[in-house]
Amino acid sequence: MAGMVIIGAGHAAGQAAASLRQEKYTGPITIIGDEEHVPYQRPPLSKAYLSGAQEVDRVYLRPEKFYQDKDIELKLATRATAIDAKAKTVELEDGTKIEYEKLLISTGSRPRMLSIPGSDLGGIHYLRTIDDVNGIRAEMREGANLVIVGGGYIGLEVAAVGIEQGLNVHVLEMEDRILQRVTTPTMSNYYDELHRGRGVIIHTNTAVTGFGGDGKVQKVLCGDREFAADMVIVGIGIVPNVELAEAAGLSCDNGILVDDHCQTSNPDIYAAGDCTNHPNTLLDRRLRLESVPNAMDQARTSVSNMLGGDKSYAAIPWFWSDQYELKLQMVGFSADGNREVLRGDMASNQFAVIYLKDNTVVAADAVNSPKDFMLCKQLVGKEADAAVLGDSASDLKSLLV
Ligand code: FAD
Repeated sequence: MAGMVIIGAGHAAGQAAASLRQEKYTGPITIIGDEEHVPYQRPPLSKAYLSGAQEVDRVYLRPEKFYQDKDIELKLATRATAIDAKAKTVELEDGTKIEYEKLLISTGSRPRMLSIPGSDLGGIHYLRTIDDVNGIRAEMREGANLVIVGGGYIGLEVAAVGIEQGLNVHVLEMEDRILQRVTTPTMSNYYDELHRGRGVIIHTNTAVTGFGGDGKVQKVLCGDREFAADMVIVGIGIVPNVELAEAAGLSCDNGILVDDHCQTSNPDIYAAGDCTNHPNTLLDRRLRLESVPNAMDQARTSVSNMLGGDKSYAAIPWFWSDQYELKLQMVGFSADGNREVLRGDMASNQFAVIYLKDNTVVAADAVNSPKDFMLCKQLVGKEADAAVLGDSASDLKSLLV
């Protein structure tokens, strides 16, 4: 009997398989994943798993027994090599073909790679998988020179762990400020000062041109400047894994194109997570997101529709980042705003920056302020009085009418 087949065994896949059983689907479910691990969470990889504070079994979404108990077949360390959308089969690397009734593609994304002189030297790492982190951890020694290429969230989370473990940490950022792609100058400056205060050396306007070393990296070259390196971690963004979908004739454009039901251009094939590009009716634009909430919500939406439902996905994107003892939570796109209001005190590391377009809240960045964050999430799209937003003694709930 053809059942539900899921390609990719990551966050979206784990959620989708669990949701299929929760929704009382009793037919066969197969997850095909090219990693050796059961579906797991990636956020701890640059945070508590990298620092050693979290064990690997707490990184897994669910223990292996869950899949046995729920009769979900896991084909791990197995790559799907082709989809035949006419025959409704997925081909595996050993030539086996698996029939599907409905297919979910959740192939995620992969790190954008540097292709410059010396980029294949040992000691140059990317950070996407448990195995990547195991390799990185094996090289993290007190006093070692760690050079991080890219001042985005992953690079800065790694910098925080590195400095706390006694490494000498340099962050190289080609733009004129860290986090340039994802947040405002206000938040970039805040994080810049935070990291410098903890001992991280940040170099902006610094583009890497090559690496030097004999078999193993010893220095990072940036034009006529160079930085000593015992290890390098590159975090310069991701590329969605769309090649299988493209080869199967599905429409792709900066991600696998899905509609608001997570359905691809083939009615029997759905897609969820980092690999997709979806329409957001609340924001009136298409988005390709790289976040856990998006992967989980799209997985749930896909499942509902794979089982014959009529569920749309529309949410204001949100995300978080943990650096040192600070939890940053973000909602919406700050670039949509034309003014910002500070709530709380940046010096105390407990505040929120709320972004408005004229009088409407469009986004917020909250540091160590989970309650304000929850309320800001509900305020997005609503008109709000900036004086009330900026007064930390005021109750944001009063604006939710
Ligand atoms: P993935 O979890 O990437 O899973 C896709 C899986 O499919 C992978 O295992 C891949 O190897 C496999 N695959 C691909 N092609 C094939 C094939 N042909 N055959 C078989 N298997 C295949 N998000 C947040 O919201 N907050 C955070 O703080 C945060 N921190 C992060 C930190 C790090 C270090 C990383 C890497 C990501 C972080 N993210 C964070 C992003 C978040 O983890 C991703 O958005 C999420 O994992 C996407 O889930 P997914 O299921 O789409 O893809």
